[in-house]
Amino acid sequence: MNRLYLGIFLFLPLFLASQNDYLESRERMIADGIKSRGVKDKATLRALLEVPRHLFVPQEIRSQAYRDGPLPIGFGQTISQPYIVAFMTEAIRPESNFKVLEIGTGSGYQAAILSRIVDSVYTIEIIDELHLRSNKQLKELGYNNVLTKSADGYYGWEDKGPFDAIVVTAAAEFVPPPLIAQLKEGGRMIIPVGTPFATQQLLMVTKKGGKTKSRNLMFVRFVPFTRKSE
Ligand code: SAH
Repeated sequence: MNRLYLGIFLFLPLFLASQNDYLESRERMIADGIKSRGVKDKATLRALLEVPRHLFVPQEIRSQAYRDGPLPIGFGQTISQPYIVAFMTEAIRPESNFKVLEIGTGSGYQAAILSRIVDSVYTIEIIDELHLRSNKQLKELGYNNVLTKSADGYYGWEDKGPFDAIVVTAAAEFVPPPLIAQLKEGGRMIIPVGTPFATQQLLMVTKKGGKTKSRNLMFVRFVPFTRKSE
């Protein structure tokens, strides 16, 4: 009994301190890398403060989780840079009643951020192992409004659509037509388009009166959008 108390006495403050460290790291990440670069949406900033990004990166590199850069998550894939996650989230103008589709679950971090803001998130990952890992992490953290699936996101998720917004986090050579079809009238899709491993354009695709328009928001570098048959 005494030992237990001693243990709690010694380790609880350390545990709490480490949690606080991460909260401070998140506050710094938001102040230095995100707010300062123009992201203003309150719900987006709140989600970034809330979601423990360090739990979405491999344990060995947890200490780097709040740096403003992408990090490897295995299988040649990366968790996107915090600023890009924030920028993309704000760009779709997320609202609390939104149903959002994400292509490229990866670590699950972008899905977690979206889940704090919108009603429901549907996210597709093509690499089975990443799908399983991120699904487990999202469930463990209680993000129950995220539904995950292992598939080629090119085809979207037809029976759950249409979606208020679509966020694609891998660079495609063109905008997949099934994704345009699954975007609601008035909806917004953000997607990096260009040659793999080169600089791509981060496009905002909007749909109005059945017509789509796209414009370049910035130049980015994402991992390639791959296909199941390859
Ligand atoms: N949103 C992720 C970023 C992961 S990187 C995060 O927050 O961590 C992009 C991911 O897209 C990779 O995991 C890659 O495997 C996945 N991907 C690439 N092509 C895909 C496709 N056709 N369908 C679904 N996922 C795909």
